[in-house]
Amino acid sequence: MKCSLGTCCLFVAGFLLAGCGASHVSNPSASNTKPALTVSTNQQTMSEKITRTEDEWKKLLTPEQYRVLREKGTERAGTGEYTNTKDKGVYRCAGCGEELFVSDTKYDSHCGWPSFYQPASSNKITEAEDNSFGKRVEVMCSKCGGHLGHVFEDGPQPTGLRYCINSASLKFEAKKDEQK
Ligand SMILES: [Zn+2]
Repeated sequence: MKCSLGTCCLFVAGFLLAGCGASHVSNPSASNTKPALTVSTNQQTMSEKITRTEDEWKKLLTPEQYRVLREKGTERAGTGEYTNTKDKGVYRCAGCGEELFVSDTKYDSHCGWPSFYQPASSNKITEAEDNSFGKRVEVMCSKCGGHLGHVFEDGPQPTGLRYCINSASLKFEAKKDEQK
């Protein structure tokens, strides 16, 4: 298959369009002195994305996080911080803090990496074909584009999926309060 360039172009085009659409939303009627609050609330904004230069990422991330998130690296099986974590809480993207997985969907896959049967929400995760080691489906953070790991079709029900995620691309946040 040599369609990767085409796919890439489509992706870039979509990205630019999304960015364009977002910039039109701002209201130019700022005639008074109040500075417009451009930062939206924590609500899920559809096309909110984070883009940084590689230098900025290098400053923000540890070398291991950078290698995994930005260079699509893979931590060695069984070495990750969260492989056997069973605490209740949420797993956020180590790059941008977006909530990606919740502990309720984490299970013991014995594959050496934290495994989840579904993401916190499907729009938090972007999938892409990865042909580097056979056919695999790469999963990335939709917000910052950081590489997370891969998804396989040998997971448990109800989804039958196994999101095999590098600990280095996650930041666990233990649940503070009881269920709301
Ligand atoms: Zn992210």
